Amino acid sequence: MIYTRKQEKIAQKIGQESTITNWKDWKWQIKHSIKSISTVEKLLGIQLKEEEKEKLKKTLEKFPLSITPYYLSLIDPEDFQNDPVFIQSFPSDKELKIASYDLNDPLAEEKDSPVPGITHRYPDRVLFHISNICSMYCRHCTRKRKVGDVDFIPEKANILKGIEYIKNHPEVRDVLLSGGDPFMLSDEYLDWILSEISAIPHVEVLRIGTRMPVVLPYRITDSLIQVLKKYRPIWINTHFNHPREITTSSKEALNKLADAGIPLGNQTVLLAGVNDCPKIMKSLFQKLVANRVRPYYLYQCDLSEGLEHFRTPVGKGIEILESLIGHTSGFAVPTYVIDAPGGGGKIPLMPNYLVSWGTHKVVLRNYEGVITTYQEPESYEKVFCDRNCDTCHLQLKISEGEENSVIGIEKLLSDHDNAISLTPSDNERIRRRKGKSK
Ligand SMILES: *Cc1c(COP(=O)(O)O)cnc(C)c1O
Repeated sequence: MIYTRKQEKIAQKIGQESTITNWKDWKWQIKHSIKSISTVEKLLGIQLKEEEKEKLKKTLEKFPLSITPYYLSLIDPEDFQNDPVFIQSFPSDKELKIASYDLNDPLAEEKDSPVPGITHRYPDRVLFHISNICSMYCRHCTRKRKVGDVDFIPEKANILKGIEYIKNHPEVRDVLLSGGDPFMLSDEYLDWILSEISAIPHVEVLRIGTRMPVVLPYRITDSLIQVLKKYRPIWINTHFNHPREITTSSKEALNKLADAGIPLGNQTVLLAGVNDCPKIMKSLFQKLVANRVRPYYLYQCDLSEGLEHFRTPVGKGIEILESLIGHTSGFAVPTYVIDAPGGGGKIPLMPNYLVSWGTHKVVLRNYEGVITTYQEPESYEKVFCDRNCDTCHLQLKISEGEENSVIGIEKLLSDHDNAISLTPSDNERIRRRKGKSK
């Protein structure tokens, strides 16, 4: 177990008698989370200007500060202003700047919430907020509106309402536990929630979104692993944003999870001043893969209030993908997404590789700039699909549950639905039409 000199010094400043055993105890870490600027200064041995601190007071009233001693120990005091960990955890007066297009709940999670705690946006899966608390507050939190709300863990009666909703919706086959951080719950409470959800016959997959391996890796204890191992399959997604966050301790945490047979993914947020650089991203994703973590999503920073200074143009994300696709292992490349404001869900973005298209040929380019062609078949016997699988020669006789009504582009492409266009209902032209027919 690693315990650096720097960590030892920080621990001793927190409490004279602090030992490595305290340091590695996640509850000790949470109990001693740093909540004030003066403590940050004291523990890191840095000094901020008085006027700077004065400016931050207002930010803290709106968006409080909380950093675990472990995460703080990763900050380089020599160059803290540019430190990725510092920028992600220390307040800035820029958070008070609200752009005209900023939204309080940009992903409309509350509008798509049938019961408290559940966001049901996609056909077959739900997001389930089982905790309102985190071990540290990320300055770039998409649920910034909730940061600093009175910390609470929903009681059983409330969790049961969410579970009841899932029970009553047989189409839900994937439940994504999120928060806050689900690993803020005790092992026993988590065990109870997991057992309740996994007992629902139509739930095939459980997912947990947590930042603990990054900000408090000591949370990944052997007893937590014992709980998680009881329920399969559980997929865990974590949230590394910079290679500097990958430490001996975080690797140990990831290793424990992977050894327990838990598939690991990572969601990175593209953040100005932290990781808006192809070199940083490539190193991050390669290190994750080396630790058996599959980069899953790269998020364009949401339109939540107070995040303007973290946002990059979309072009930065595309540029980063250009530097990854083809250049490194395919599974080291995450899907770049914008989570649509208003609740449209995640929309993937990619550089263009399709240069042109004729009747039987496509022109493509590769990552090096090679322009190539792909000859399409001269004849292709289209399989007409009216969803009457009994007459189909394809061996795809899947259960009837699959025959839901189609939506979106899928609907336009199908043979069995007569829709020829998709038009938003809230549209000037459609309103005019409606007005006329009256
Ligand atoms: C991201 C998200 C999911 C999961 O989406 P995947 O693309 O399957 O990872 C589900 N529900 C909500 C509301 C989400 O934001």
